[in-house]
Amino acid sequence: VTAPNIPANPIIRELPDELISQIAAGEVVERPASVVRELLDNALDAGAKNITLRLMAGGVRAIIVQDDGSGIAREQLPLALKRHATSKIASLHDLEQVGTMGFRGEALAAIASVAECSVLSRVQGDASAWLLDARSGEISPAARAVGTTVEVKELFFATPARRKFLKTDATELSHCLEVLRRHALARPEVGFAVWHEGKLLEQWHASSLKQRVADVLGDEFVALSLAVAHSEGAVQVSGFVGVPDAARARADQQYAYMNGRFVRDKVMQHAVRSAYEDVLHGGKQPVYVLYVSMPPERVDVNVHPTKIEVRFRDGREVHQALRHAVARQLDAPRSHMPVAPQHSNLEVKTPDAAGLITQFAIDLVANESHQAAAQAAFNTAEQSSAQPYRPPAPAGYEVREISQLWSKPTAAQAVQADQQEPSVWPLGRAVAQLHGVYILAQNTQGLIIVDMHAAHERIVYERLKTQLDGARLASQPLLIPATFAATPIEIATAEAHEATLQQLGLEVSAFSAKTLAVRAVPTTLAQGSPTELARSVLAQLAQHGDSADAGSQVIERAQHDILASMACHGAVRANRSLSLEEMNALLRDMEATPRSDQCNHGRPTWRQVSMKELDALFLRGR
Ligand code: ADP
Ligand code: MG
Repeated sequence: VTAPNIPANPIIRELPDELISQIAAGEVVERPASVVRELLDNALDAGAKNITLRLMAGGVRAIIVQDDGSGIAREQLPLALKRHATSKIASLHDLEQVGTMGFRGEALAAIASVAECSVLSRVQGDASAWLLDARSGEISPAARAVGTTVEVKELFFATPARRKFLKTDATELSHCLEVLRRHALARPEVGFAVWHEGKLLEQWHASSLKQRVADVLGDEFVALSLAVAHSEGAVQVSGFVGVPDAARARADQQYAYMNGRFVRDKVMQHAVRSAYEDVLHGGKQPVYVLYVSMPPERVDVNVHPTKIEVRFRDGREVHQALRHAVARQLDAPRSHMPVAPQHSNLEVKTPDAAGLITQFAIDLVANESHQAAAQAAFNTAEQSSAQPYRPPAPAGYEVREISQLWSKPTAAQAVQADQQEPSVWPLGRAVAQLHGVYILAQNTQGLIIVDMHAAHERIVYERLKTQLDGARLASQPLLIPATFAATPIEIATAEAHEATLQQLGLEVSAFSAKTLAVRAVPTTLAQGSPTELARSVLAQLAQHGDSADAGSQVIERAQHDILASMACHGAVRANRSLSLEEMNALLRDMEATPRSDQCNHGRPTWRQVSMKELDALFLRGR
């Protein structure tokens, strides 16, 4: 190991301006995309209504941003490139109230220190535009409408070491486009266009937020998302959150904005994630575009040179508002939505119902010519989609007797059910059970397929959660205690957690040195095996044992885990044949239960196959 090269008598010097800017550039300018971000910020701050981005070689050769904003006056041009020169704040008070994207006055100076840079600009009322060459400092008259064009060429040309860190042009381009998407989603009222190597890649006209989200993230994103509008204390939340079905393997469609600025913030990410906790399958990542706004003095945006991080005065305030905003949308059962969002699990790219039916057709027909026929049939069905399907007049159906397997309908529900035509039940009326696994039901749109175990599991789970919220689960003693041979750990856990077990409606105590006896079980789960239930709860308690000392969120999580595994024991097993009454009671329960579109593991509980899709399968109407 060689010692660092420290001179015997260190001399402290002031660094030259150029070097200071280059050091600052190390923080602000990492790659072409960082330049794009700064230039787009500036254009938006200047009040631009239309912004055009032109790139060469992924932005490494050239980045040009043209805007129709306020422009920069001739005498101000040299200042724009000076370090710590900004038109956006003048005092500490301004800094605390800052509403512009930039305010540090270092971006252009930093960029100009690591690239060839020029600024062409014209303000209202000036007879001509002016071009500033950053290298020479020369200003010359030029032609241009009101607004600004900033050109940044040969990024890192003077610092080859940094240039080496750049990836392929394609990768740099994709980073630039991601930056553009973030800005475009922040400002739907501004038009954006992007060109690469002379080719127009994207053009998004000024539009509504919904249209902009569709333009940038695709129609499918909008079709599979729920609109959020929520206000809590000083915090406002709006935007779109994807239904659990729309979640992705990667966290690549998560856009969060704080007071109009795209941010990556742990508190905000966690808040959204926790709203999905109960309905998301495995490691899937939710998709969302969320805008949070709050008084600027409650959030510090000046904690990071690129301002992508923020610091909240009260993180909990933001966390709660955001979590509630998202959960409120996710919790409501979606069977009531006029057109329930559809998405095939099969990762089919085609948006909405098209994916499901195409996959159906492809699964059903093995050889290629049939596939072509099925695709053609599907295309035809799409074209004729203008006329809605007219369902046949519903046959009368009465709920006569409800098995004790399901909850008895409340008086109000029963009255409602009596008055309602069966055809208006969102999940329809049951017509059959398939291989002891699926319930088939008919509703106005066509066929509903329900995974009965998954659906019932969710209903039992939600019922248990509600009961536990009200202190403890209702319990029912067993006539004959159920005993089982227990491990020492199980016996110890039963002793240590007696109170918790009671809260969960379970009474488990030692029967002999090596045997435990279950003496009471939760009323809701009275149908299942008491010993299996006790075993699984003891296992969960042993695992979560110490979380009683942890924060309330951890306790809640542990409780939910335990209730979820209890629900699994209480839920109807596959291969149990159900009567139509039982199936219908389950469907009505689903319509009334929060989060019933997903099972406890986040998988979907039901699917709609429309008549249109069925007709296409049979080539009807051709
Ligand atoms: P900041 O944005 O933090 O103020 P910059 O270095 O990005 O710092 O820009 C310096 C100044 O140059 C800005 O404050 C603004 O007055 C001016 N400026 C930069 N880009 C533009 C633009 N596209 N239109 C109008 N003025 C601009
Ligand atoms: Mg700026």
